[in-house]
Amino acid sequence: RAKTEGKDTYRYFEASMGAEARDKRVMEHELRQAVARKEFYLVYQPQKEISSGKMVGFEALIRWRHPTRGDVPPTIFIPVAEDSGAIGQIGEWVLTAACEEAARWENPLTVAVNVSAVQLHNPNFSRKVHETLLNSGLAPGRLELEITETALVKDMPRALATLRQVKALGVRVAMDDFGTGYSSLSNLRAFPFDKIKIDGSFIKSVDKNGQVAAIVRAVLGLGRGLGLPVLAEGVETLGELKFLDAEACEIGQGYYIGRPGLIEEFSELTGVDAPTVTNDAAGQRNRS
Ligand code: C2E
Ligand code: MG
Ligand code: MG
Ligand code: MG
Repeated sequence: RAKTEGKDTYRYFEASMGAEARDKRVMEHELRQAVARKEFYLVYQPQKEISSGKMVGFEALIRWRHPTRGDVPPTIFIPVAEDSGAIGQIGEWVLTAACEEAARWENPLTVAVNVSAVQLHNPNFSRKVHETLLNSGLAPGRLELEITETALVKDMPRALATLRQVKALGVRVAMDDFGTGYSSLSNLRAFPFDKIKIDGSFIKSVDKNGQVAAIVRAVLGLGRGLGLPVLAEGVETLGELKFLDAEACEIGQGYYIGRPGLIEEFSELTGVDAPTVTNDAAGQRNRS
């Protein structure tokens, strides 16, 4: 059965390859205009200390409100933006919007921003981060950059230089989606991370699956040995949260802890209730 499915998928792909390539070119073109057209906005997802339930920060997640197709998920458009080079401009918009937003909060929570490989390999990246911090007035220690392992592999010396530069500014770096990439352990040793984010695929049913539990315990041991706090992504149930609490995992993020939302929805956590200025597409929606 799997074989038949595989064949079908392959045949479908072959038949539609022309159309797919065309769709991709259209999207590349639309992405290059989307920043100027204010079609992006950010949602924020809470990150909480598991033992106390205390709020520690938010991860900023980009959303694209396409004028005709509606919301396009980042898993679809980020890879296209990375291939076409549009990610440079989009990534700068995300960084600026997230830092300006966080600088307005009464409560000095951290803001975590996802950084793609292309950004990390740009020799001007740390200068841009520095400028963004100065312009927004956000304390460097409140910014955390989330970097996946795949972002490190293209040019390791370049990536390492960039990480050292941003860390010298006082910015923290987290290894995102830990365990899903290539050569996770050597990357942990080679790069100066401040936090490990275990991928959500290892958290799903961690309280019910002995194999997954063994892996998560091992990662927690690794974090302890290296002196790095561990954040569990994708916490969806109370059972998973209880397991993580019992195993002394420091931080949690996921639908059970808090779904991503517009920052206005979190005014009791940020201590701010006025609408934001930079959250482009969401701001348009709020005004309309
Ligand atoms: P990520 O950095 O691992 O972000 C976590 C993803 O998991 C988010 O998906 C979030 O909405 C989702 N999530 C949170 N809690 C749960 C849960 O309990 N269960 C499940 N099943 N999912 C949960 P989202 O927002 O669709 O983002 C997907 C990916 O797109 C991100 O994965 C990140 O790699 C990328 N991305 C998002 N925003 C940006 C950005 O501004 N820049 C870059 N370069 N990449 C971004
Ligand atoms: Mg992330
Ligand atoms: Mg992640
Ligand atoms: Mg993930």
